Amino acid sequence: MDVYGLLGNPVGHSLSPPMHEAAYEELGIDARYVTFEPDPDRIGEAIDGARALGIRGLNVTIPFKRSVLSLVEPDGLAEEVGAVNTIDFAHDPPTGHNTDVAGVTRSFAHHDVALSGREAVVVGAGGAGRASAFALADAGASVSVANRTESRAHELAEAVSGASGHALDSLPRLLAGADVLVNATSVGMDGDESPVPREALHADLAVLDAVYSPLETRLLREAREEGALTIDGAWMLLYQGVEAFERWTGERAPVERMDEALRARL
Ligand code: NAP
Repeated sequence: MDVYGLLGNPVGHSLSPPMHEAAYEELGIDARYVTFEPDPDRIGEAIDGARALGIRGLNVTIPFKRSVLSLVEPDGLAEEVGAVNTIDFAHDPPTGHNTDVAGVTRSFAHHDVALSGREAVVVGAGGAGRASAFALADAGASVSVANRTESRAHELAEAVSGASGHALDSLPRLLAGADVLVNATSVGMDGDESPVPREALHADLAVLDAVYSPLETRLLREAREEGALTIDGAWMLLYQGVEAFERWTGERAPVERMDEALRARL
């Protein structure tokens, strides 16, 4: 039996085990997907241990996405983004990848939203913001990043080709001519709040919210009411998992089955 899993702290409520195990069941793969919560000071030992035990692949989440970079051989994209969310133990040393980037681009592709040549706004400059900004720029969009801590928006914009950094109060101006909006902050998760003023939303936007609980955040509700196309955070979660599954197993992921397993728990 093959073992895959998730490294994070905490990981108690993760939706990745049911999503991946639904895929193993659908394709008749003899595998389990388990969660691990190592002490943040012992992350290096955790990776060595996983390697020694023959674990095939690990996803990585908060607070380890950055610290794992120096413990594996990151590919170019993970290095650029500055975060690893997927480790592949098929190689020695194990390789590190960032499938959050594909999570963003495949979410838009699934909803037939073209990104090339479009104006995109990313709110947030943490891990999800970095993955979103690189994803949109790599897909040919011109990217503006707005963040509560403005200096982080500038830092990210400097790393992303053609991007610009802004404070949150620039959002109305940035969104007036935008086609695509990504919320990559945690605002909306713990209360009926939105990081974007409602007046800045309009019907020509496609809006992806990285927050997946609740599925319809205040931002998505208001965007839908304004006539925008809305994409919830479960799509991003699904496609980062699909991408990791395909890398590890070499099989085409049963996307609908994984989506069903995920949404059944949201
Ligand atoms: P992170 O690295 O801690 O970054 C958090 C971001 O949110 C920062 O830009 C921070 O701004 C901003 N922020 C926090 N509180 C805010 C507030 N009250 N007002 C305005 N901005 C605020 O976290 P992350 O890993 O990027 O995750 C962000 C969100 O994305 C979380 O909800 C996470 O669950 C979600 N996510 C979803 C997926 C998915 O697959 N759907 C994947 C990754 C993450 P400052 O820089 O000013 O602190």
